[in-house]
Amino acid sequence: MDQHPTSCRVIAVANQKGGVGKTTTAVNLAACLAAAGHATLLVDMDPQANASLGLGFGAGRAEKQVYHVLLDGLPLAEAVIPTEVKNLDLLPSGIDLSGAEIELTGMPDREKVLRGALNTARGRYRFIILDCPPSLGLVTLNALTATDTVLIPVQAEYYAMSGVALLLNTLALVQKGLNPELRVEGALLTMVDSRSALSGQVVQQLRAMFRERVFQTLIPRNVRLAEAPSHGKPITVYDPRSKGAEAYSAFAAELLAKFGLS
Ligand code: ADP
Ligand code: MG
Repeated sequence: MDQHPTSCRVIAVANQKGGVGKTTTAVNLAACLAAAGHATLLVDMDPQANASLGLGFGAGRAEKQVYHVLLDGLPLAEAVIPTEVKNLDLLPSGIDLSGAEIELTGMPDREKVLRGALNTARGRYRFIILDCPPSLGLVTLNALTATDTVLIPVQAEYYAMSGVALLLNTLALVQKGLNPELRVEGALLTMVDSRSALSGQVVQQLRAMFRERVFQTLIPRNVRLAEAPSHGKPITVYDPRSKGAEAYSAFAAELLAKFGLS
């Protein structure tokens, strides 16, 4: 069971900084991959459950959640729910998950619990997207241990780079121990304001740090992206003609091309 079919790719969307666009990216990337015909699972790893909400499942609305998979040994397939979007399933979260940081501490192989659970699902999906919480605690470590690759959303703002070095440091530690195969896919610039010179500066700083691993696609600040979650819909459904939908579709296409899947 530990042998992964190479056909499934797990992508963790991580940055311990809050409000940088992790959830917006996870939800809308997952929706774009699903729209491109790929069986996709979105795993909400944040107790605030914004990704679940963004797909129409408000916190606590789902009876079986990622918490029960991690802490109670519930088979992942029993907690996964289909969404309104074709090809897109969700493993929802809720407030219970906030206890997981502490409860996982006492478990054997506490960083590898999610990895074991995802291995049971790799055969059914082309992509599994993990929406990480804004911390570098045990839940995030589980995601980084379970994933094949990490996508780092970086908000186009003055202090954007603070914390990115810490994150890269953590990723290097995980590569040395828990997950030697871990790849850093790259950085995605979010909430770009085309009128501001700042975004250009942040792009330059990012290129200095990540070199070619900065995605060409820039995600603009777009109010439709901020509105969509309150309707429980990804941008591809809420407003498929918006700039935000165009940007996330372009990003998904860029990623698929990188994976040789376009
Ligand atoms: P994180 O998951 O990193 O905390 P979110 O994806 O929840 O970040 O984004 C933080 C806030 O910014 C949310 O209110 C979200 O709707 C908004 N937001 C994210 N990306 C954009 C964007 N490109 N344009 C406009 N608002 C955005
Ligand atoms: Mg989030």
